[in-house]
Amino acid sequence: MPDPLETMAARIDGKAFAERLRARIGAAAADFVHTAARRPGLAVVLVGDDAASQVYVGAKGRACEEAGIASFEHRLPATTSAAELLTLVERLNRDGEVDGILVQLPLPQGLDEQAVIAAIDPDKDVDGFHVINAGRLAVGQEGFVPCTPLGCLMLLQDHLGDLSGLEAVVIGRSNIVGKPMAQLLTDANATVTLAHSRTRDLAQVVRRADIVVAAVGRPEMVRGDWIKPGACVIDVGINRLAPTDDKPKGRLVGDVAFAEAAAVAGAITPVPGGVGPMTIAVLLRNTLVAAHRHAGLPPPEGL
Ligand code: NDP
Repeated sequence: MPDPLETMAARIDGKAFAERLRARIGAAAADFVHTAARRPGLAVVLVGDDAASQVYVGAKGRACEEAGIASFEHRLPATTSAAELLTLVERLNRDGEVDGILVQLPLPQGLDEQAVIAAIDPDKDVDGFHVINAGRLAVGQEGFVPCTPLGCLMLLQDHLGDLSGLEAVVIGRSNIVGKPMAQLLTDANATVTLAHSRTRDLAQVVRRADIVVAAVGRPEMVRGDWIKPGACVIDVGINRLAPTDDKPKGRLVGDVAFAEAAAVAGAITPVPGGVGPMTIAVLLRNTLVAAHRHAGLPPPEGL
């Protein structure tokens, strides 16, 4: 009988990687304070009372403070008008203490997300959602890259080293995950296929991949028999299943059927504890990079 552990993929521990990254960010933030005589600063704007957004904003604020980054929280009522929100964004654009601005999405109905993102100074757009930053990524200029795909790239490079020539399949083409992920992998010299809901015979497409990044939002859609033996699988999906007796809040699963895929893959990220923790860590990293650029300092090393 083969040892089942020998056929099990290595687990890519995003939580541990993110903790190490946050420790490096903390050290670099302390150096920044020493040089610039101020802390790097992130302004987070939350409009309305969406429960999940409240949790995310709270977590971002705590992560900033732990890393020595000043966190400026602006919690506005759901009744806030577009003009009021834009006035706040413009004030933050001009504020010398603020290096990064993040407007937590989704915004309440009636507020135009694209208009609000467009109002953020692209050099403070640490989420990397502004069209200027999307354009900079597309043409290879320095800008800000969305946090989740950049975190996925860090995990891949940490695990695989050089990605040159590897076949990568990204499933999902959203502006915040799939498209920038495909761009980053292309820039890292992988051969990239960007798959989506109209892709024909997705299972067959995925079977040729050395790297699979699943960012779909469909629980356990990617099955074990889609995975090429030894492939590296990054599961971005966060899906909550219906509550059961033993999991009254519902179990959290990714877009990949973990147990099946782990039996075939070379390495795989778990959900939770894989990509999720990287997103906030990269947000801190982008804020620190923004602070260095605003202060005219060279970029922090090793981040
Ligand atoms: P979107 O809903 O914006 O995009 C989903 C993409 O998946 C679309 O491009 C869609 O294709 C594609 N898709 C949908 N169904 C299928 C299918 N049956 N076969 C192939 N492709 C399909 O999602 P996001 O990119 O915002 O998020 C994706 C997942 O990642 C979600 O579970 C989300 O919760 C999670 N997420 C996790 C983060 C983290 O920090 N870990 C951060 C951000 C997101 P089409 O374009 O053709 O409609």
